[in-house]
Amino acid sequence: MPKLSIVKVKLDREVNCYVVSCATTKEAVVIDPGLPVKKIVEQAGNVTIKYILATHGHPGHVGGKDDLKAITGGETGIHSADAKQFLRSADRYLLDGDELDFGEFKVSVLHTPGHTPGSVCFVVANHAFVGDTILAGGIGRQMPETDLRRQMMSIGTKLLRLPMSTALYPGHGPATSLEREVAQNPIFRGAGVR
Ligand SMILES: [Zn+2]
Ligand SMILES: [Zn+2]
Repeated sequence: MPKLSIVKVKLDREVNCYVVSCATTKEAVVIDPGLPVKKIVEQAGNVTIKYILATHGHPGHVGGKDDLKAITGGETGIHSADAKQFLRSADRYLLDGDELDFGEFKVSVLHTPGHTPGSVCFVVANHAFVGDTILAGGIGRQMPETDLRRQMMSIGTKLLRLPMSTALYPGHGPATSLEREVAQNPIFRGAGVR
C-alpha cells in the first residue's frame, strides 16, 4: 500500500493549507495556497510540488498561489466558476470529475458549489479536503456570493456519496470525519439533507 503524508500548515486568516504527498515518490499537492508562502515551503519539507490547488477563490485560500508556483514550479488549479467570480487565473481550470496524478495517488475533483460558485472538494484515497463547504461542527462563513441552498445540495449529493469513514480536512479548524459530521453537525438537521 502506498503511503500518504498530510501536513497541515496554519496560514493567515486562520486558513488551513495542506501539503499532501506520496511517501514513496515525494511528489506533492498543495491545497489552499494562502499566505505566507514561506511557511508553506518550509513546512512542506523535501517534496516536489506538482500541483497547487485551491478549494475556492477567497483570498485567504488562494493568495499565495502565484508566489508558490514561482518558487516550486507547481501547476496551479482553480475551478473555472471561481476563476470568473474572483478574476483569478490558473494554469488549469478544474472541472467536476477531473483526476490529477501525483506519485502513486490521484486527486479527484468534486465540484461542490454553494460557499462560492466554484467551490470544490479534493478527494485523495479516503481523505477529503473540503475547503469552506463543511467545517467541524458547522460551515464556512457565509459571504455575499454564498448560496446556502446550493451548498446543502452539494453536501447532500456529493459529499454524502463518499464512504462514512472518509476523513475531512476543512479550510478552517480541526479535521473531522464524514461520520462524525453527519451525527453532530447542525447543518444536517432541518436542512433537508437527511
Ligand atoms: Zn471561503
Ligand atoms: Zn475560508
